[in-house]
Amino acid sequence: MSDLNVITPSTAAGQRLVVRADLNAPVQDGKVSDATRIERFAKGIKPLLDAGAKITVLSHFGRPKGQRNMDFTIAPIKPALEAALGQTVQFADDCISAAAVAASENLGEGEILLCENLRFYPGEEANDPDFAKSLARLGDIYVNDAFSTAHRAHASTAAIADLLPAYAGPLMAEEIKAMTAALEDPKRPAIAVVGGAKVSSKIAVLKNLVGKVDAVVVGGGMANTFMLADGHPIGKSLSEPDQVPTVHEIRELAAKSGCRIILPVDVVCAYDFAPNAKNVTTDIDGCPADAMILDAGPKSVEMIGKEFEGAKTILWNGPMGAFEMEPFDMATVALARKAAELTKAGTLASIAGGGDTVAALNVAGVAGDFTYVSTAGGAFLEWLEGKELPGIAALRRAAAANKG
Ligand code: AMP
Repeated sequence: MSDLNVITPSTAAGQRLVVRADLNAPVQDGKVSDATRIERFAKGIKPLLDAGAKITVLSHFGRPKGQRNMDFTIAPIKPALEAALGQTVQFADDCISAAAVAASENLGEGEILLCENLRFYPGEEANDPDFAKSLARLGDIYVNDAFSTAHRAHASTAAIADLLPAYAGPLMAEEIKAMTAALEDPKRPAIAVVGGAKVSSKIAVLKNLVGKVDAVVVGGGMANTFMLADGHPIGKSLSEPDQVPTVHEIRELAAKSGCRIILPVDVVCAYDFAPNAKNVTTDIDGCPADAMILDAGPKSVEMIGKEFEGAKTILWNGPMGAFEMEPFDMATVALARKAAELTKAGTLASIAGGGDTVAALNVAGVAGDFTYVSTAGGAFLEWLEGKELPGIAALRRAAAANKG
């Protein structure tokens, strides 16, 4: 973090800031249905406004594919942002027009302007330097507060950072701090919980994590491929036989760095992929040939729960089972609650991220009890893979250039 400049109220006071946010919140019938992202952003920038910053906000909204398509207008976000900030938000119906630039220049201290969807222009996703130049006219200081889009080199996340003094925003700074602490310098023992459907989508995550944490709990459909590699019967379970060599490779890497791989010791096998399907709980050698594993069983929950009790850090991505369908949400919900309980008791730092994971924590009703929950999907995964995110690299470059 020390290699990034983070915006503060004293730096922002009286200045014209162009802030890249992620306000891509779900909208139903013209109204925001989940304002979590907007509220978190508002909480971070309110102190900047209170200090007298003049803020112009840029964000993408959906995927209009570089066209001005009003099905993707960002206008429904304005009232939700006003509610979250407790103040009026001005609106510009374009993000690079002369009118938008004038509106940003006319902002008074403590006032805020929201510009129309960045992705109405192809230059945004193309990281076009001319488009970035047009965006840079909206402020004298650039602030990137959108961790969730930092894995994309777009004009508003990458090219613009070379044109203005560039700072990380409050939410971006919070996210980087929480994730760096968990991944680079965790309190040990540190456990990663990696679940979800497929090994193939998380090979890089697993390979990186086994070198960093003390144990990796593998759950969900991914665990089936590990069980297959170990010679256990998995019936009709979702699995990837072609990934068996990858599993062996991951096991070898883990052994080299002294990281334990923890798999379920019992499983819930269903005869249908459907809610409340007929099912049987067996040990890992008992999956019937005509059934599929959809969850970890109660003995696994107890065993993994004990691991949590002995841990100081948990990094969680991906559900332990097919959590969208009862009763196959049991292991995910029980372990999420266990992690939340230990976090509240002060013995555990719990960091979770990814769309499905946040949904699973919400099913368990404990998203608010984790130490940090990242709503970033792709960016969170790429961080776990150990990749440098272009949006953060751009801020680092800018900070280094400033010092130099
Ligand atoms: P991912 O996007 O890779 O994190 O995967 C999440 C999806 O994996 C969720 O929709 C779960 O329902 C699904 N999933 C988890 N465990 C299983 C399983 N044992 N069999 C089939 N699907 C599963």
